[in-house]
Amino acid sequence: MEMTRKFEGGKLVVASHNPGKVREIGELLAPFGIETVSAGELGLDEPDETGDTFRANAELKALAAAKAANLPALADDSGLCVTALNGAPGIHSARWAGPNKDFDFAMEKLRRGMLEAGPVDVSAHFICGLALAWPDGHVDYFEGRVDGELTWPPRGGKGFGYDPIFIPDGHDITFGEMEPAAKHAMSHRADAFRQLVNACFAR
Ligand code: IMP
Repeated sequence: MEMTRKFEGGKLVVASHNPGKVREIGELLAPFGIETVSAGELGLDEPDETGDTFRANAELKALAAAKAANLPALADDSGLCVTALNGAPGIHSARWAGPNKDFDFAMEKLRRGMLEAGPVDVSAHFICGLALAWPDGHVDYFEGRVDGELTWPPRGGKGFGYDPIFIPDGHDITFGEMEPAAKHAMSHRADAFRQLVNACFAR
C-alpha cells in the first residue's frame, strides 16, 4: 500500500467554491502556517460532483483543482445524514438547497420529509470527507463524523448550511449558536482534519 504523502510547505489550493467551507478550512489550517488560495480566487472551474460517495466527490474535486493549478489541492465533500431518511440528504446536502443555496428551504424540506417518515427519530450525523491531491494524481483521503440530533425551529446565525438545526451529542445548543472555536473542536471537519494533519502535515 502506498504511504500518505507529506505536505512539506508551499501553497495549498482549497478546492471549494463554498465561502463557509473555505473560511472554516482556512481557520483550521491557520495554526500550521500553510499558505492557502481558494479555487474561486484562482478562477478554477467547479467540476460536476458525479460520484456517489463522499470519497469519490472529494477526490474528484481535489484532483481537478490540483491538475488545473499544478499545486497540491485539498477538497472537502460533506453533508448531513439523517437516520429517519436513510442517510439523506447525504452527498446531496448542497443540492437540497437549490440553485439559490437557500438553506431555510432545505431545512424546511427536511422537517417535512421527517414528519412524513413517521415516528420521529431525530438522530443525524455530519460527514466530512477530505481529499489531498497532487498534480501527478496521488490522492489521500480522510473521513470525519459528528453525531447529534436535529431541532426545529432553526437557531443561531454563526455557522453555515444546516448548522442551525444540528445539536451535537452532549450539548444543548446548535452548531449555529456555537462559537466557531467550539464547533472546530468537535465537528466532522475537525475530526477529518485531525486525521489529515497527523498523516500529512506532522513535522
Ligand atoms: P458539498 O459542497 O457538496 O460538499 O456540500 C456540502 C453541504 O453539506 C453544504 O453545502 C452544507 O449544506 C452541508 N454541510 C457540510 N458541512 C456542514 C457544516 O459544518 N455545517 C452545516 N452544513 C454543512
